[in-house]
Amino acid sequence: MVRFWKKRTELGILTKHLEFDKELVEIKKELKSEVAKKFAGSLAIRMVDSGSCNACEAECNALSNPYYDLERLGIYFVASPRHADVMLLSGIMTFNMTSHVIETYNQIPNPKWVVTIGDCPAMEGVFDKTFAIKAPASSHIPIAHHIPGCPPSPKEIIKGLLEFVKKLD
Ligand code: SF4
Repeated sequence: MVRFWKKRTELGILTKHLEFDKELVEIKKELKSEVAKKFAGSLAIRMVDSGSCNACEAECNALSNPYYDLERLGIYFVASPRHADVMLLSGIMTFNMTSHVIETYNQIPNPKWVVTIGDCPAMEGVFDKTFAIKAPASSHIPIAHHIPGCPPSPKEIIKGLLEFVKKLD
């Protein structure tokens, strides 16, 4: 124990103080107030991966860390579509996932919205001629908003969510 504390006092503080992104702070403030106004302070998101490389999900995972802390703004990821307001869809629409995405969309109670994240869900391009792809996502379900990027950073996702919420009446 003595050795541990001796080492701690000798080494000092090794971690850096985070420099807070002032623009992000302002975006988060605005998003929190929009969610309070338009969703009574609680916006539930069901994330669905229709065939992604997992990088979009990794960026979304970062939204729950203490730095981005989306829950503080009243935005939650939920396990059941029945508890969701918004479907956050990532990945190219694959043949195998198409029926599951439609089923999940149907399970979300009204009013509901779909926000696509990353370039994949909007993509047709080289993939749409293969048997395994049913792109784009918009040909199967209505898309309310798109957050571009490959993958979008957590800050871009937060910005995109703000743009989406601001569009709602
Ligand atoms: S948009 Fe890019 S990062 Fe996101 S799932 Fe597609 S390939 Fe991966």
